[in-house]
Amino acid sequence: MYKIESTKQLKEVMGNYFLGMKDTSRKVAWCTSVGPAELLRSFGFEVHFPENHGALLGASRMAGDFIPETIKLGYSDDICSYLTADIGSYVKKQTPLTAHYGLNGPPKPDLIVYSTNQCREVQDWFTWFGRELGVPVVGIHPPRHLDEITPEVITDVADQFKSIIPACERASGKKFDIDRFRETLRLSKEATDLWKKVLWTATNSPSPISFFDATIHMGPIVVLRGTQIAKNYYTTLLSELQQNVKMGIGLLEKERCRLYWDGMPIWGKLRPLSELFLQNHSAVVASTYCNSWVFDAFDEKEPFESSARAYSEIFINRSERVKQAKLIELVKDFRADGIIFHDAKTCANNSNSRFGMPQRITEQTGIPCLVVEGDLVDLRFYSEGQTITKIETFIEQIESAKEVMAN
Ligand code: SF4
Repeated sequence: MYKIESTKQLKEVMGNYFLGMKDTSRKVAWCTSVGPAELLRSFGFEVHFPENHGALLGASRMAGDFIPETIKLGYSDDICSYLTADIGSYVKKQTPLTAHYGLNGPPKPDLIVYSTNQCREVQDWFTWFGRELGVPVVGIHPPRHLDEITPEVITDVADQFKSIIPACERASGKKFDIDRFRETLRLSKEATDLWKKVLWTATNSPSPISFFDATIHMGPIVVLRGTQIAKNYYTTLLSELQQNVKMGIGLLEKERCRLYWDGMPIWGKLRPLSELFLQNHSAVVASTYCNSWVFDAFDEKEPFESSARAYSEIFINRSERVKQAKLIELVKDFRADGIIFHDAKTCANNSNSRFGMPQRITEQTGIPCLVVEGDLVDLRFYSEGQTITKIETFIEQIESAKEVMAN
């Protein structure tokens, strides 16, 4: 059975990251997953990402125990289930970090920083913790749903980045150092370039990496970007995958169908879904989600402006028109035969099927699309039987259509 050997190193890297949280002498900042992590690291903060904890709660299937705690506090079960699971985990004082790393919970923050470039939910989530823990909270609010990234947007967001520096200085006890910021951004750029190359190895057949593998291997680019550790890890992973491409080995001996996944992962069902596609001789070769940590724009020569551009031009922050064009481009680059849209019940921000996009893409390109209902971590919104039937039927239809074309 095909295996990515670098996974052993990945476990070590992620283990060291979490075990490092035991060092209470380090200052800690919490940050949103596509927030200003490089700026925070340049102040020497350990950076914790509550969304990463949310994903762990989903993958360990503990989220369902915690979401009701947050609902009791007056939060709807329709809103981000990372938020409801993470707050509930804090309230119940339980976390998968205990069994895996001996931690009682995520590290206590000295500063909490969010960016609403992805959604407004993170602001409510992080300010809840700010109130609860008595910790300062600062936010960046880029313009949303952009068609174009204009010079005005860059100036606005770059100024917002600069405006959080005093809070970082107070919480870290360190003065801002532009050279450290440039260096952190350089490392982040190098790691993100490697990550992109890792993902792009899946343009080959057989693909050496699937979307499901990538959701695991993306750990360092989310939580350790701006460090040498992340850069080293992706150097190793890329070299292994490139070698596999050269040897012609990958997920499947023969790919009958290549697919693109749009939207959030279903964290509690990664393994069965991964197996389902492989059993159907299909490879899910690319995704909007894993591509979200490809930041082409980082440039240490213009650290504020390039960070502003990189974090404003992310897919989730773009207009429907730009998203649609980007999806079509990616589907072509990865030679996908169809798109699966995951409509995540509690994340409208990362569910792109709700305003007719699948229909428009099929009309424009002929690429078939399927919508599956589910959620990132709240499995009450996911029907396994129904989803399996839908996916298998979709794959069969694609295969039949390909056979007709070939004859
Ligand atoms: S983008 Fe979606 S999943 Fe992520 S924090 Fe916002 S609402 Fe939650």
